Amino acid sequence: MNEKGLTTISLKKINKSKVYQYIYQKKAASKLQIVQDLQMGLSTVSQNLNILEEDGLIERNGYFDSTGGRKAHAIRIIPDFRIAIGIGILKNMFHVTAVDLYGNAFYTDTITLPYSNTSSYYEQVTGKIKEFICENRYEAKKILGVSIATQGITSPDHAAVTYGTIMDNTGMDLRDFSQRLPYPCHLEHDSKSAAALELWSHKELDSAVIFLLNRNMGGAIITDHQIHQGSTMHSGTIEHICINPDGPLCYCGNRGCLETYCSANALEHASGLSVKEFFPLLRGKKSPRIVQIWEDYLNHLAFAMKNLNMVIDAPVIISGYLAPYFMEEDIDYLLRYINSASPFALEKNYILVGVHGQYTPAIGAALFYVEKFLQSI
Ligand SMILES: [Zn+2]
Repeated sequence: MNEKGLTTISLKKINKSKVYQYIYQKKAASKLQIVQDLQMGLSTVSQNLNILEEDGLIERNGYFDSTGGRKAHAIRIIPDFRIAIGIGILKNMFHVTAVDLYGNAFYTDTITLPYSNTSSYYEQVTGKIKEFICENRYEAKKILGVSIATQGITSPDHAAVTYGTIMDNTGMDLRDFSQRLPYPCHLEHDSKSAAALELWSHKELDSAVIFLLNRNMGGAIITDHQIHQGSTMHSGTIEHICINPDGPLCYCGNRGCLETYCSANALEHASGLSVKEFFPLLRGKKSPRIVQIWEDYLNHLAFAMKNLNMVIDAPVIISGYLAPYFMEEDIDYLLRYINSASPFALEKNYILVGVHGQYTPAIGAALFYVEKFLQSI
């Protein structure tokens, strides 16, 4: 092909992409808006709208209120034109979710299945993923891929888990899944997946420190709108920051890691109650012991937040399983503690709280394929 031919093709693709991205951002747009805002000719816009509609990517759905004359069609993308499946693997269960092109998790479920690094486990988990897809009647051609969030640090190419002490899954291989599923597969450290969802939900943030308060703790650092991976993929593993050298033993072999104070497991251990039992009791304010346990928990969390804020001067995001349990009074408590001993005051709007609870890593993992798809248009 000559150079001119190539240029025409890439220009066509750029225009199509621009129109799609514009509609995607606006959620609903009229043809005239597109012409005006993208400064494209009416015929070019019409042509691209026709192509996008024929491809099944957009639809004319409803009308805008008329300001005189004919009512304008509201043009929208079709959110479930493609979907991504997200999986969050834990010791005794896994979470599964289906996510549309706007990142909405329109289906979530938890399936009990104890983890073991055996082919029988991988047979079962992939079998259940296929069952999930089949039962919900998601067409195979719609599925962009299955993205798996697991506890444990992955290799830079995401092909395997290189450090998986909690679940004893060091060596977990992407092929354990991909050989058994007829879809593209991707493997991620669950903390990084959670960070991907928080970043997706807060596109305005340049930087942030994420506290993933799951059964085991996790964390991530966002800088320059990206998740910081680090030279050996362990940036943001704030769960192993030592806050007391004589503290309880952590699964990593060291003492006094934040994990031993601020994971959901640590909270359950300290109270002798499950998380679901703990919070109603706490909010009932009838047990001074429970209130004390929660204050201890918040003190340790605030201690880590304060110190990390010196390294990364940015908002803090509380994410994961425990996040939906946080109330305004807890945020105020954290701020009081942080600001009582810091030269730099943290503003209230610098503590953000995630809303997806235990499904955060699974949904975040699925976004890997959603983002890839959106970039491909
Ligand atoms: Zn540790």
